[in-house]
Amino acid sequence: MSPSLSAFPLKPGSTIGILGGGQLGRMLAQAAARLGLHVHIYCPNPQAPAFEVASASTIAAFDDQQALQDFARSVDVVTFEFENIPLQAAGLVANIAPLYPNRQALEISQDRSVEKAFIEELGLNVADWWQVDTAKDLAKALAQCASPALLKTRRLGYDGKGQISLDQSHDPVQSFAQIGQQPSILEKMIRFEREISVILVQGAPDEVRCYDVPCNQHKNGILHMSSVPSGVADALEQQARDAAIKIAAALDYRGVLAVEFFVAGAPANPKLIINEFAPRVHNSGHWTLDACLCDQFENHIRAIAGWPLGPTTRHSNAQMSNLLGEQVLDWHTLASRPDVAVHLYGKTGSQAGRKLGHMTKISPISD
Ligand code: AMP
Repeated sequence: MSPSLSAFPLKPGSTIGILGGGQLGRMLAQAAARLGLHVHIYCPNPQAPAFEVASASTIAAFDDQQALQDFARSVDVVTFEFENIPLQAAGLVANIAPLYPNRQALEISQDRSVEKAFIEELGLNVADWWQVDTAKDLAKALAQCASPALLKTRRLGYDGKGQISLDQSHDPVQSFAQIGQQPSILEKMIRFEREISVILVQGAPDEVRCYDVPCNQHKNGILHMSSVPSGVADALEQQARDAAIKIAAALDYRGVLAVEFFVAGAPANPKLIINEFAPRVHNSGHWTLDACLCDQFENHIRAIAGWPLGPTTRHSNAQMSNLLGEQVLDWHTLASRPDVAVHLYGKTGSQAGRKLGHMTKISPISD
């Protein structure tokens, strides 16, 4: 066993390295601090909100090999808070310190085409899709799809960015130009009844737990609200959990994994279709901060530090809403509500549509 792996479980006082310094990194750092663990944040953006709650910081680019190596040597384990970390950076770090989730999970989730093929190979459903590398491919795919669709870049898309909706009346040459002529996929538009997600945590290979399934509403491709309970039948929730567990097992996963689903088909015979997975803590799991004894951030830290997982049981009903742009100006009113927990990310500026915080409305389960 390598010296670093023999150190597990990491003792209080050990240091977790986090690649990325956004709000997810910030909330991971806050959870680590509760367990007596230190955090070292690596992020190119000096204004990143995780820096102010971390005990060590590296402000450097993801292609700065020396800075990456120094960072990896200074920590006991490394994780990441967004999936678009360049693979080379992750690989370099993983040669020095254990990286959880592993490089394979990162690699698959970075490319929509590879991700969909991987999910299909596990026998799970995704929307009909076609690979699009040229305008000609797009023309062919649109004809085969024969219904409204979404053109999504294979890489670097998030929160509805890097995607356009189109149908057979659109000019393929123009649409492909609109997406920047990047390698893409065409995906059939699903007429879903609702969207749900599974937030799962896996520690040791046979130790896996799932939080209750939230129902997620999006506005302009960005998550607007997550509610638990979801309102979908228990059996369907169980199916979603089983699918997420299958993905985690196939990835030899460690940490929190989020899997997003569409609930589609006839109400009497609903069908689950996987949209995508994220190898990290997830916006649709923020409600766990206020409605569970051990939230997704703490469980991620526990899993990657080799600690026993915490309970994922829910003690309250919850409705989490993101605070985007100017919505955050309402902080004073929200803070005066007895049923609401306010979380602000300490970001500077109030750019329209930016995630600046979230609020969770809590109510007793018996309501
Ligand atoms: P994504 O960036 O792929 O997670 O997409 C963001 C949101 O766009 C999803 O949560 C859905 O609300 C919507 N969306 C994405 N793909 C589809 C699809 N194939 N059919 C219908 N809606 C979709």
